Amino acid sequence: MADEIKTTAAEAPESRNFIHTFIEEDIAQGGQFEGMTVHTRFPPEPNGYLHIGHCKALTIDFGTAEKFGGLCNLRMDDTNPTKEDEEFVEAIKEDIHWLGFDWDKFCYGSDYFEQTYEYALELIRKGLAYVCELSPEEVKKNRGDVNTPAVSPYRDRPMEESLDLFQRMRKGEFPEGSMTLRAKIDLASGNFNMRDPALYRIKFAHHHRTGDDWCIYPMYDFAHPIQDALEGVTHSLCTLEFEAHRPLYNWVIENVPVPHKPRQIEFARLGIDHTVMSKRKLRALVEGGKVSGWDDPRMPTLCGLRRRGYTPESIRNFCDRIGVAKVNSTVEYGFLEHCLREDLNEKAQRAMAVLRPMKLIITNYPEGQSETFPVENNPNDPEAGTREVTFSRELYVEADDFLETPVPKYKRLYPGGPECRLKGAYLITCTGCEKDENGSITAITATYDPESRGGNPADGRKVKGATIHWVDAATAVDGEVRLYDNLFSDPAPDAADKDYLECMNPNSLEVLKGCKLEASLASAKPSERFQFLRLGYFCADSRDSGEGHLVFNRAVTLKDSFGKGNK
Ligand code: ATP
Ligand code: MG
Repeated sequence: MADEIKTTAAEAPESRNFIHTFIEEDIAQGGQFEGMTVHTRFPPEPNGYLHIGHCKALTIDFGTAEKFGGLCNLRMDDTNPTKEDEEFVEAIKEDIHWLGFDWDKFCYGSDYFEQTYEYALELIRKGLAYVCELSPEEVKKNRGDVNTPAVSPYRDRPMEESLDLFQRMRKGEFPEGSMTLRAKIDLASGNFNMRDPALYRIKFAHHHRTGDDWCIYPMYDFAHPIQDALEGVTHSLCTLEFEAHRPLYNWVIENVPVPHKPRQIEFARLGIDHTVMSKRKLRALVEGGKVSGWDDPRMPTLCGLRRRGYTPESIRNFCDRIGVAKVNSTVEYGFLEHCLREDLNEKAQRAMAVLRPMKLIITNYPEGQSETFPVENNPNDPEAGTREVTFSRELYVEADDFLETPVPKYKRLYPGGPECRLKGAYLITCTGCEKDENGSITAITATYDPESRGGNPADGRKVKGATIHWVDAATAVDGEVRLYDNLFSDPAPDAADKDYLECMNPNSLEVLKGCKLEASLASAKPSERFQFLRLGYFCADSRDSGEGHLVFNRAVTLKDSFGKGNK
């Protein structure tokens, strides 16, 4: 983690992109790219749902193709036969479309198994690969160190023997772990990836697409460059951990008679504080019941973020603004939230909701009377129009907008306190509260100024108290609201020296039932987003919310988060 730097919203580099520069140079030089269309690919392994880190990668892959008027393939990297699942394949497609990208060709790594096998045979014939009978443990023991070359007693076996053994490996004649096909490169290389790396291993595993056709599977480092080349990919963009594998990537495309020679370019992985980004860890959270599923709104998965209320635009904007670098960095979660807030501030319909309701009785407002006020749906969008909200003698306000005994600088409701504005309705003055036999407050009482309709005093006097949101008790609808905090309280749960499960935040989910929502919210559609005045941006839950049972997720708080202090 020594190479980690911190990128904050303020420091986030502009969309400068060294990959584009490299590609421009390649095009200018001609050579292996002569006459070719810029072609990239996004190669997820279908063993989990896409997370925000993948978004960065796919924004770069699809975005680069877009920029150069080129092509981008979606390739399911199912070279490794275990754990893949069609459920993930469909989900990955859905997520990419939701973000607004589309692929030119959809394919699977396993589409190339036969061709890859043929290429392996060719390498053996050329004397560039051999069957090695060292067990995985023996290979490890014989890998040498910086000063000592690796050793394999099988390196110089005759080509015909390797050819025969490899063909029999394919037929299933040998047990798992008994042999591998290795590239004959350089046992003394300073780059351990070049010390005769394995190209094929035996694995008696069922493959989700090829079934039991194969019991040998190519290693990623062998399969990937071949897949890229066969698809006509010109630029294979990947994360930094593949940098030391690039010589092997190049060795493969130089020594195998592929039709094209793609170039691998690496960029930094995205890390976000207070979260983990590996599918293995995310899967463990799901399987361990630590979250409700891959789409739990606290998850950094695309489906989780979507359910939470994130817009595709906010995520793409985030990915563009964090930039593409050669150094791994950790971005603040707050920056992702910032991008969402910016987007929803423009787009979200406004509404009023009271999360922890307390009755407010306007004692001088006639019983049985009711009126309506027009309120703007979105002050940032003149097209959004207005809606009517009802007002009557009994309302709900937030319980903490009232204090029987005020603390210093408290400007909301308290007996003898300043005149406050009920948003868009009237000015009121708190007169006291009602209590039950146990002394618990059951209602706040106040009087209103009938001359202040719309919330403005007729005589232009200054309103000293706060503006408070409210809903009409007569027409309010009940709802459930889910408030979220970081899934991990530790800012770096992904750090190598930490047990991420120990870093979890026990208070990452707060469920509030019996919230009072303005009547218009009764028709909120699943996934519809709103700004609840003073409280943040909320999204009707796509799974649980429906007519008669409203559930809202808080996507993000407003900047000056409500409830921070009693001001
Ligand atoms: P994980 O550890 O989450 O399983 P992975 O790299 O194994 O990650 P893949 O499905 O193989 O996941 O990833 C598909 C593409 O997304 C790869 O090109 C990979 O480099 C990229 N990618 C994965 N995680 C990140 C990340 N955090 N930041 C940027 N790119 C990423
Ligand atoms: Mg992977």
